Amino acid sequence: MLVVMKAHATPEEIQAVCDQIDRMGYRAHPMPGAQRTAIGITGNQGEVDRGNLEELSGVAEVIRVSKAYKLASRDVKEEDTVIRFAGTDATIGGRNLAIIAGPCSIENREQAFAIAEQVAAAGAQFFRGGAYKPRTSPYAFQGMGLAALRIMAEIREHFGLRIVTEALDHESLEHVAEYADVIQIGARNMQNFSLLKQAGKLRKPVLLKRGLSATLEEFLMAAEYILSEGNYEVILCERGVRTFADHTRNTLDLSIVPAVQRASHLPILVDPSHGTGKRDKVLPMTRAAVAVGADGILVEVHHQPEKALSDGPQSIYPAQFARMMDEIEQIAPVVERTLPRGIHVDAAAGAHDS
Ligand code: PEP
Ligand code: MN
Repeated sequence: MLVVMKAHATPEEIQAVCDQIDRMGYRAHPMPGAQRTAIGITGNQGEVDRGNLEELSGVAEVIRVSKAYKLASRDVKEEDTVIRFAGTDATIGGRNLAIIAGPCSIENREQAFAIAEQVAAAGAQFFRGGAYKPRTSPYAFQGMGLAALRIMAEIREHFGLRIVTEALDHESLEHVAEYADVIQIGARNMQNFSLLKQAGKLRKPVLLKRGLSATLEEFLMAAEYILSEGNYEVILCERGVRTFADHTRNTLDLSIVPAVQRASHLPILVDPSHGTGKRDKVLPMTRAAVAVGADGILVEVHHQPEKALSDGPQSIYPAQFARMMDEIEQIAPVVERTLPRGIHVDAAAGAHDS
């Protein structure tokens, strides 16, 4: 159920409707839009009892949402969600493309700084790096943990780049939430419902990767877990799915971008690195991702990929990343997008402009 408020409903009227929903034993999710506020209702087992909601002051109408995902749906919020980063001009969603670049794993301080310097110079606004790694083999490098998070905090301080890094479980989520600007939940955890709920309790953007075999509905329902706990800053990311094709590591399903954009207001990024697994496929698929309308790119970059402790074969060189940025810049206007170059950080936010 969804309560649609009138265009000029006052904050007091909106609050009164939320209070009434609470009293009915449900949870209210006010979603302000450009034209009007809609209030999503969750916490019901079956049909929501409309009670007297329709009669409350400022209410335009009460409508049923038939889709399984509600808060993620465009029915609740027509406008695209734009996520902002306090003290900076960086955004994810909306007209500006968001570029997240960096190594698969943080391996040591020198490696992380060398890569961060080059991705910042090429104009990325976000730096990625794994501290806690979900590896297929228990014998493979598992990440540096807390030490990696501290290195990334230094990178934010030094270059202004905002930090994206993965939380693997409840324990790492606590640490990641303390250091990161965006918490990544990986493909293998897309249906780790208790982790999704815990991330939903935080008030920090969550980048949710599509599971290896997830349908569109399963993907949006995973996002719904986070939203339903009151964290509305969810970023979706297509990273390829498992198919019979073996010329790439995964099959990058770019058609999910317009499918998500039709169904949901949440931003959707594309990860051409895990989506192909091969360096020579990363630039062509990035061009295609921007052309198809993705809200941004998450890409693995390494200055010495042959020595990388994880995902070397799919990591592009910094020079290729610089070229990628030039190509994105040229394609962006065709799809009414802009590529911002570099991040501007308020002096008060404690980092240098790049
Ligand atoms: C990663 O981003 O390094 C990663 C492990 O991604 P995914 O969850 O998509 O495999
Ligand atoms: Mn990786």
